[in-house]
Amino acid sequence: MSVDVAVEQDLAAHIAAVRERVAAAAHAVGRNRDQITIVAVSKTVDRPAVDAAYALGLRHFGENRVQDAARKFATPLPPDATLHLIGHLQSNKTRPAATLFDIVESVDRLSLIEGLELAAERHGSRLPVLLQVNVAREPQKAGCTLEDAAALMDRLVHSAWLEPRGLMTMAPLVADMEETRPVFAGLRVLRDALRRQHPDRDLGVLSMGMSNDYPVAIEEGATTVRIGRAIFGD
Ligand SMILES: *Cc1c(COP(=O)(O)O)cnc(C)c1O
Repeated sequence: MSVDVAVEQDLAAHIAAVRERVAAAAHAVGRNRDQITIVAVSKTVDRPAVDAAYALGLRHFGENRVQDAARKFATPLPPDATLHLIGHLQSNKTRPAATLFDIVESVDRLSLIEGLELAAERHGSRLPVLLQVNVAREPQKAGCTLEDAAALMDRLVHSAWLEPRGLMTMAPLVADMEETRPVFAGLRVLRDALRRQHPDRDLGVLSMGMSNDYPVAIEEGATTVRIGRAIFGD
């Protein structure tokens, strides 16, 4: 099954527009567009749309539910694709998560670290992870506090089976994307501090920015943007 021609044309136009905006935002602050990974968040679409996006050159895909992703990717993506778990992970889903995903961006508590560690060990391969931080302190959102981040990162750095790569956050949904700037800057400041604490580790990833606000996130240093609606439509 594949998507129809009109859908594919829309997708191609959306991807081209996102790439252009990523390049413009990077250029505005003297960064290279190649430093920024676009994760296409495919949580609202089915496999044919993912395959169409892959055919159009995208290689990173994001899902927020383990069960949906397990169904969607029962036939694995080609080996050069990377699957990101970006949503809240329940502790009883760590085993399928560690098997299916190439990176878990939503690690935010000790019990989850312990569960994922066991799952990665059973799977027999080290699992790349990001520490999710609730910079904006929104009560309804996942993510550890800024205060807890250093201790959790310390734990991750000493893990035999998890491989921390950096940080992830979600900004509040606001009408004017400029309002998200302090949140993204806050995650960058935290990342820089954690890097100084662990100079021998590669903790450079800053996963921040979604359809509403990714240009600001890139200006503030995002290395990964997670984009759903701007690619796949509403
Ligand atoms: C859905 C989602 C996104 C993408 O959001 P859009 O507004 O569709 O770009 C990014 N990150 C997370 C964690 C999400 O759940």
